Amino acid sequence: MKVPFVDLRAQYLSIKTELDQAIFEVIEKSAFIGGNYVQKFEKEFAGYLGAKHVVACANGTDSIEILLQCLGIVPGDEVLVPALSWISTSEAVSNVGAIPVFVDIEPDYYTINPNLIEEKITSKTKAIIPVHLYGQAADMPRIMKIADKHNLKVLEDCAQSHGCEIQDRKSGTWGHCASFSFYPGKNLGAYGDAGAMVTNDDIIAEKARMISNHGQKGKHNHIMEGRNSRMDGLQAAILSVKLSYLEKWTTARITHAKYYHEQLKNNVVDTPFTRPDSKHVFHLYVIRTDRRDELAGYLKSKEIETAVHYPTALPFLQCYQQQRNEPEQFPIAYKYMKQIISLPMYPELKKEMIDEVSQSIKEFCK
Ligand SMILES: *Cc1c(COP(=O)(O)O)cnc(C)c1O
Repeated sequence: MKVPFVDLRAQYLSIKTELDQAIFEVIEKSAFIGGNYVQKFEKEFAGYLGAKHVVACANGTDSIEILLQCLGIVPGDEVLVPALSWISTSEAVSNVGAIPVFVDIEPDYYTINPNLIEEKITSKTKAIIPVHLYGQAADMPRIMKIADKHNLKVLEDCAQSHGCEIQDRKSGTWGHCASFSFYPGKNLGAYGDAGAMVTNDDIIAEKARMISNHGQKGKHNHIMEGRNSRMDGLQAAILSVKLSYLEKWTTARITHAKYYHEQLKNNVVDTPFTRPDSKHVFHLYVIRTDRRDELAGYLKSKEIETAVHYPTALPFLQCYQQQRNEPEQFPIAYKYMKQIISLPMYPELKKEMIDEVSQSIKEFCK
């Protein structure tokens, strides 16, 4: 049985009529950029999160960059970033002229390790970007405490954590602000690039709106130079339709993760934990094994697709070689980057498919 890593077409087919209608409506009304559909989605997503402001923008990477600008991060500042994430998290820091300072991850949860944050704080440190990696909540209560103590800003990277909760409060509502991506493969995905900035702070929200639309406060009133980072009406209309299914899809992901765990727990692979008092939304289902590449090859021979998120931890990417990072500084990220493998995970995944994947892993482990 072929098991794809994700199946965006299956999701489309499950709500095709609704989506097609939404898309035609936007074209019919020529509401292509900004406008009513974007405003409607912003309001709905704010309601979903329990946040005061949502400002839509062009993609998740822009949303981090713009928020760093809103927080007043300037060249020379240092921003703490987890050692394991997609490059956007650190790239955005560099793109505003600041320096990404990497912090190793928690061995059980893959998110920034609060025990290691304080030793990285210098007089130049201005902010922390926790990433709720794979859909797992970062330790927000502790991170906020440390941030308060050292007067640092916190920007949550929620690109992989739509619907994730910590103590019944959604990820994206803990920090001073949060960035979201709606890249097609994310838990809430558009049909192209899209992103959003979330905050309860009126000033951050106003600035984010200005920067993402050429620094305008009202048409042709350019208070500052900004940039073009707006959401398409088509993406907003699609996201509005999909948002109403997000809880259902998240529940399906959690159910699949439980079933994977049941099947795999007595094998020599490490299955994911969920942080206590939190809701893991399983953007990715990541296991670990010392024979990762062999396992990937074996599964491929059985037509099961897998992926690695990410094969090189951020400190060891070529683009950061001037930092001269050593494995001993980030032992967990360094060890895990050779062991992690992401199994097929999406709401429409069938139980038989999980059986097939698990059975194949068991055979491999024998
Ligand atoms: C996807 C992702 C982003 C960036 O989102 P884009 O919309 O692709 O720019 C940022 N951070 C993390 C952790 C991501 O997974």
